Amino acid sequence: MLGVISNIQRFTVHDGPGIRLTVFMQGCPLACWWCHNPESISYCDVKDAGDNLRFSVSELMKEIKKEQVFMDESSGGVTFSGGEPMMQAIFLEEILRACREEDIHTAIDTSGFVLSDAFHSLMDKPDLFLYDIKVINNTLHKKYTGASNILILENLRTLNKYRKNVIIRIPLVPGITNTKENIHDIKNLLLELPNIKKINLLPFHTIADGKYKRLNLENKMQGIRPESNANNVEIRSLFTEAGFETSLGA
Ligand code: SF4
Repeated sequence: MLGVISNIQRFTVHDGPGIRLTVFMQGCPLACWWCHNPESISYCDVKDAGDNLRFSVSELMKEIKKEQVFMDESSGGVTFSGGEPMMQAIFLEEILRACREEDIHTAIDTSGFVLSDAFHSLMDKPDLFLYDIKVINNTLHKKYTGASNILILENLRTLNKYRKNVIIRIPLVPGITNTKENIHDIKNLLLELPNIKKINLLPFHTIADGKYKRLNLENKMQGIRPESNANNVEIRSLFTEAGFETSLGA
């Protein structure tokens, strides 16, 4: 059983509780205009991946366990991000099982754009979902991410129904996700899901600009500047006043 991993970051502190190891898995079915990991989007079959990208479950566990002392001391763990980690569902299930056997806390950072069968088979495996909600208007969602949000919203409702541990992540992208209408729509959606109470707002930044240049990829956010902190704080207070536990940053 092999997985394709584009990067492993140690000592991350924004992808779940405590100090974490973040494993970036290759391949994503979306193509968000503001993606900060454009190198992770293209799908790569395991047989075509170079040896430096291909990991067996035991090889990846070895990397994870190197950090276990920091994870244990900080109540941290490992986060599977991407790309879309649930695209490599079988490998992900195996590595989550191996982590559970070692009592290591796990989180999946997902776009939610995952077929229902794979989603249901993985739903019980991690301790935490970091679940992205981007745009509620489906026409705009298709424009800015390349895909419909119907599956994403359906999978989120499933997590709510089964009372899974979820933190919603909302990227605050100027003029796209941070508009009054979209924030209002997201708030209304989440108010219908009583078991989802935590929201992490992610301010837009331009640190991926260099990657787009290096990879010679079109950067659709070229020239868009980060929003003022005051605007982001105002959006946060809308969610806080609606009763959510919110955080802003990262
Ligand atoms: S879902 Fe995440 S990894 Fe995939 S394109 Fe969008 S921002 Fe990038």
